[in-house]
Amino acid sequence: MSACYDFIVVGGGIAGVSAAYELAAHGSVCLLEREQQLAYHTTGRSAAISMESYGNQQIRSLTCASRRFFESPPEGLAEHPLWSPRGALIVAQATRVEALTARLRAVLEQVPSARLLDDKQVLELAPYLAEGVWSAGIYEPSAFDLDVHGIHGAYLGGFRARGGVIKREAEVVRGEHRNGHWALHTADGQRLEAAVVVNAAGAWADELAERCGMEKVGVRPLRRTVLAIDPHCDVHHTPYLGTIDEDIFIKPEAGRLIVSPCDESPSLPCDALPEELDLAITMDRLQSTTRLRPRSIINKWAGLRTFVADRSPVLGQDPQQESFIWLAALGGYGIQAAPAIARLCSHAALGIAMPADLAALKLNYQHFSPSRCRDEDFSGLAVTQVADLH
Ligand SMILES: Cc1cc2nc3c(=O)[nH]c(=O)nc-3n(C[C@H](O)[C@H](O)[C@H](O)COP(=O)(O)OP(=O)(O)OC[C@H]3O[C@@H](n4cnc5c(N)ncnc54)[C@H](O)[C@@H]3O)c2cc1C
Repeated sequence: MSACYDFIVVGGGIAGVSAAYELAAHGSVCLLEREQQLAYHTTGRSAAISMESYGNQQIRSLTCASRRFFESPPEGLAEHPLWSPRGALIVAQATRVEALTARLRAVLEQVPSARLLDDKQVLELAPYLAEGVWSAGIYEPSAFDLDVHGIHGAYLGGFRARGGVIKREAEVVRGEHRNGHWALHTADGQRLEAAVVVNAAGAWADELAERCGMEKVGVRPLRRTVLAIDPHCDVHHTPYLGTIDEDIFIKPEAGRLIVSPCDESPSLPCDALPEELDLAITMDRLQSTTRLRPRSIINKWAGLRTFVADRSPVLGQDPQQESFIWLAALGGYGIQAAPAIARLCSHAALGIAMPADLAALKLNYQHFSPSRCRDEDFSGLAVTQVADLH
């Protein structure tokens, strides 16, 4: 005998747990995670910032629509605040000020509080920056820090409270769809049935699809490196800092700074580790961007951000088999946009129209459809350059 559910969600990162929580309001749900520890992969390695100006237009809409969840989560879901104020500053050298103002114009409709700063104002906000290098900045006061552990835990607790079942160390190795039902087989010999399967397998989303007899969409895991340093100065109130060409980010975290060269090295799906060369590049960029001269690296890690070419998620029913739901390619936005994405996913899994508040933001499932990624023109494309996004 095998256990039978309305929905099986594969993947226990933020995508899987948030979608499982939403779906558990509508039927029985089982969440399968290969690792012992949920959120072990990309979700546990993020920079934990929410910026409404980040990403393409669809991402910005999803991020704006998610804010309310973080500020006032559903009753009983979280005992502590899931966010805290931070602000974000994107800086440019003199040659890139035009690109900076173009970005400001593009994001103002969704982020009206964003404003242009001159070189002095930039240095006031981030006094550790190198003098005479940065000519202007966009300041986004409404950007905020995310408590990723708290958010993931809140969704998980809510899922359990709705009767959801969680199976750890349960890697899906094979799935088949017969007579209107999915049967999934795990590495430890379990057989589980469901009417609908949600693919929230992160960097492994294509692998999971193929294991279930579905055509892949061509997700591309890109490795990003992060290290932590002691700045030897007070950085508590400095904003998240990035550059217009996204070649470094610097973020305060518990009195330290975390720094990334914003690398995007193609990778196979794996337990990502930082490489020595990327760590050296990070330290080098830190020295040319700032006055900081850290003597050592306190901590370091890497994670896989998974994209398709247009940097929008792959989200919704697979036209080849509508009971196979994609929830993948969340790129660098999977935490900040999780609440809206989870609602979109659950509506797709239920086969009902998009929530009215999200449709009002001019979002539609075509933007996210798996079939767009299978077009020859699309699948040959490189992942869009960050600077081309607007
Ligand atoms: C360095 C870095 C910085 C980032 N900063 C931010 C940020 O500031 N803000 C933001 O919003 N986002 C950020 N992100 C992006 C964000 O972390 C991701 O978009 C998000 O975590 C993706 O979640 P996920 O659930 O899709 O993937 P994951 O967390 O990787 O979860 C997928 C899960 O599926 C499981 N799985 C895979 N295959 C199987 C199988 N066959 N059977 C069972 N389980 C399986 C895996 O074990 C894994 O646990 C950052 C990412 C990185 C790496």
